Amino acid sequence: MLLPAPPDAVELVVATVVVGRGVFGGRAGDGLAVGCADGASVAATPPDESALDPALVVADPQPPSSTTAAKAMARAGAFRIGASPRSVVPRLTVSARRSFPMVLRSSSFAAYHRVTMEPRLGRSPSTVTQEAPVPDHTAMDAFIRDIPKAELHVHIEGTLEPEMLLELGERNGVELHCASAEECRAAYHFNGLQHFLGLYYAGVEVLVTARDYYELTTAYLRRAHADGARHVEVFFDPQSHTSRGVPFAVVVEGIRRALVDAERQLGVSSGLIMCFQRDRSPASAIIALETARPYRHIIAGVGLDSAEVGHPPREFEDVFRVAREAGFRTVAHAGEEGPAEYITEALDLLKVERIDHGVRAIDDRTLQRRLAREQIPLTMCPLSNLELQVTPDLAQHPLKRLLDAGLRVTVNSDDPAYFDGYLAANYAAVQHALGLTRADVAALARNSITASWLPSARQTKLLAEIDAFVAATS
Ligand SMILES: [Zn+2]
Repeated sequence: MLLPAPPDAVELVVATVVVGRGVFGGRAGDGLAVGCADGASVAATPPDESALDPALVVADPQPPSSTTAAKAMARAGAFRIGASPRSVVPRLTVSARRSFPMVLRSSSFAAYHRVTMEPRLGRSPSTVTQEAPVPDHTAMDAFIRDIPKAELHVHIEGTLEPEMLLELGERNGVELHCASAEECRAAYHFNGLQHFLGLYYAGVEVLVTARDYYELTTAYLRRAHADGARHVEVFFDPQSHTSRGVPFAVVVEGIRRALVDAERQLGVSSGLIMCFQRDRSPASAIIALETARPYRHIIAGVGLDSAEVGHPPREFEDVFRVAREAGFRTVAHAGEEGPAEYITEALDLLKVERIDHGVRAIDDRTLQRRLAREQIPLTMCPLSNLELQVTPDLAQHPLKRLLDAGLRVTVNSDDPAYFDGYLAANYAAVQHALGLTRADVAALARNSITASWLPSARQTKLLAEIDAFVAATS
């Protein structure tokens, strides 16, 4: 679909850019900003070039109801396209009077894509299609990617990419809900935490042997390393494996070997945290805890995850007391979908050292003051919050407000295979949406180190590396 050229056009520049899924997130409130020269006009269509889908084209700040409005937005220098289904590859059609560089920028992804339009002469403009935009990292994205940092909130089962899901499903003879990676990804639209968990636990079933857990963990560690992670603390959900008959030892051994190899090969240090599923009984959690006792030298701590609403922390007070007495450190998911009171409960009753998510702390000023005073870390996960509709739009995410209020906020990826972004993508998404400065990004990176369970000597070393990196790049 081509827009009519401006009436005084002599030389037309026309291009159709097919934007890959990796660039265009397809989530409500998200968008793709297109910066282009004055006089350009822009439209977006579904890939089959059927009628323009009004839901696909959303200008910022006002949605254009016609191509006239779209052209007006383009003349202003920026155009914004709203959400589209993940299965749809958006297509942009651009026309202008002269050649200009066009920058495609997703507010959720670190990658920038620059396309230079080729001039076309004549009355019938030609079309240039770029199937695979060329990645181009801006200075801020490179800063975000390369600054040394730690990841403290990632579920290893949530790093299971569709390609590996299919491979392991085939290897282990497990029937799946999808037959191709694209089909799997197309299903990753969630109306909330519970909806996501259904697919997440279905995916877990392909994990059977120690080799599976090793490969899964290794794939994650390579990605984390590429995103500048120097240290990771990884969650796993033992009950989702042992309940299917996979021995606890198989799970731990596969993950542990990958962590050890990554430290040796990539220099990424790590910790392992076993999560209890709060939608299973406290009695089941106690069994998991007792099973874990012989692995205390491998498992640094315990956490609490899965469906939050209706499963308050207080139900697990005894489990956490026994865990602390056994020498495990403690964290808990709280204030993700559940209320701020769950955060207070997790601190008072479970006596946790960190709160995973903690988004709802924004609702309780007294709690905020306490979190700031006691420097309790919050391991926030922006893209997860967006995908699970914990926040309607990243621009409304409380991360920046809590950071400014003095809380020890960190950025993490949660279940990156399902939420379309690993560690650096989460930093980039929140940086773009909230306008974080380099100083903010550096503060988040420092927080990730001081909130970790690393020994103080390595913390000091990594903090010095952050300072050196910031100084060298300013
Ligand atoms: Zn989580």
